[in-house]
Amino acid sequence: MTSSTQIQLVARPTGWPTHDDFRTVQVELGELAPGQVRVRNEFVSVDPYMRGRMNDVKSYTPPYVLGETMTGGAVGRVEASTAEGFAVGDVVLHQLGWRDVSQADAAAFRVVPEIPGVPLSAYLGILGMTGLTAYVGLLEIAGLREGDTVFISGAAGAVGTAAGQIARLKGAGRVVGSAGTPEKVALLTERYGYDAAFSYKDGPVADQLAVAAPDGIDLYFDNVGGEHLEAALGAFNDFGRAALCGAISQYNETEPAVGPRNMGNMVTRSLMLRGFTIGNHLEHFPAFSRDMGAWLQAGEVVFDETVVDGIEKSVDAFLDLMRGANTGKMVVRV
Ligand code: NDP
Repeated sequence: MTSSTQIQLVARPTGWPTHDDFRTVQVELGELAPGQVRVRNEFVSVDPYMRGRMNDVKSYTPPYVLGETMTGGAVGRVEASTAEGFAVGDVVLHQLGWRDVSQADAAAFRVVPEIPGVPLSAYLGILGMTGLTAYVGLLEIAGLREGDTVFISGAAGAVGTAAGQIARLKGAGRVVGSAGTPEKVALLTERYGYDAAFSYKDGPVADQLAVAAPDGIDLYFDNVGGEHLEAALGAFNDFGRAALCGAISQYNETEPAVGPRNMGNMVTRSLMLRGFTIGNHLEHFPAFSRDMGAWLQAGEVVFDETVVDGIEKSVDAFLDLMRGANTGKMVVRV
């Protein structure tokens, strides 16, 4: 018998989640039925959107069910298979989440190629959902144009580090980022190709953005919401465009968010703000894979991961992500 360690949500958090909202269980997996695959996971993903799914509210993905194992992106190797097209040792991606061993019908898994020199965890980040989000948000949602001054919040995270580099490679004139620590701010300009960066904890975002982008901004990639969005609305040049990707400053708030007070700028400056969820734009995956694969091979894009060891540490990794302990993609190494 194979046993699987799994992390389940058992209570809906109010405000910040705590360990009491989760439990770790051991599940005995039966023999494989015909057409099934057993996968030993190597990395599982923790992502900000998971906080929204812990609430019992209607959204673009259904809430987590209490008492069930946390689902989400994961990558591992086939350990046993009775399914055609899955051989022992194959690398597979799936959405079965926070568990060390996943066993299910073959339809739950997708075989992906192993790329020499690239860790499997890249499929959860730079080559996966967060990389695609950066690509689609900039190019399809906000319509990046040659010479744009681009402002990206959450710039040192998984989406943000990818977005800054893609913006530069696709012709942005100036790329400005904000993050939460001096170390991250230094990395933005020294490693991720940002032209200017600041810590949103050092003073009002609007004041710091005015210094970093003295001629205003044309495109805003919003990962944070709140004060950042209001600052961007204030800094926009005419015909500015925003991709509203996330609002992590609000996810653990217990009161409804207060919107920007300067929405009138949308009229007077002919602005466009467009939200998106990446699941509605998967048709861009082939173009993204081609571009990102080539950039990685040529060394034109770099990526970092913050790795937390042990499936039993998944809750800690998630909370650390929400607190900003990560640079680049936060993953759990099983
Ligand atoms: P990150 O790797 O960026 O990790 C989250 C980061 O958010 C932390 O590292 C922290 O960095 C920052 N943060 C936390 N609290 C605050 C706050 N109050 N104000 C400003 N920054 C804060 O996560 P992802 O790259 O995975 O996700 C980034 C954003 O993109 C999120 O909003 C997420 O929900 C969204 N997203 C949206 C998708 C879509 O389809 N629309 C798909 C994927 C992600 P710091 O130290 O800088 O504070």
